[in-house]
Amino acid sequence: MAGSPRVGVLALQGDVREHAAMLAGLGAEVALVRRPEELAAVDGLVIPGGESSVIDKLSRTFGMQQPIRAAIAAGLPVYGTCAGLILLANEVLDGIEGQQSFGGMDVSVRRNAFGRQTESFETGLDVPVLGDEPVHATFIRAPIVERAGDGVEVLASLPDGGIVAVRQGALLGTSFHPEVDGETRFHQLFLEGVREHVAGR
Ligand code: GLN
Repeated sequence: MAGSPRVGVLALQGDVREHAAMLAGLGAEVALVRRPEELAAVDGLVIPGGESSVIDKLSRTFGMQQPIRAAIAAGLPVYGTCAGLILLANEVLDGIEGQQSFGGMDVSVRRNAFGRQTESFETGLDVPVLGDEPVHATFIRAPIVERAGDGVEVLASLPDGGIVAVRQGALLGTSFHPEVDGETRFHQLFLEGVREHVAGR
């Protein structure tokens, strides 16, 4: 269908359904992606929240790591939330032994950065690129961006300066989970990138 971008949700582990529902609600044609040929058929990819070390391992088991790395290098728009952000980071801090990422974003991301006492919290966040209304952000065993390279745009930070939303080219990442709060604006931003990617091809 014209005007309806075809986007995938990496469906190895994590909150796949929430992303799929949100993207479908925004008019996208949604496909669950587990295999290279399914990846090849989408114009954008969401990597959900979940457990980054598990998604990493399963992606290697399913032969998806190299295809995803190649797609990112070729400019595929990708939006990662929480574990998905960890998987987009060029450097993962506090990963489990042998943990790898797809990479693509010039950031260093620390897993479980808020410690045990604050496993999960919610807060209002200013995200200027999304307009004046703050984002209601839910953090669940969330990572933080400890270093953002020169080419990385910081979209949101916590009051203490901790970076929690970033963009670099076609890659978008958030430490938190807009999909669990009905916050559509990040997914809309991602879909705009997908449409630009399709138009520019
Ligand atoms: N702590 C998880 C990890 O390291 C991320 C948590 C989440 O995605 N909600 O992958």
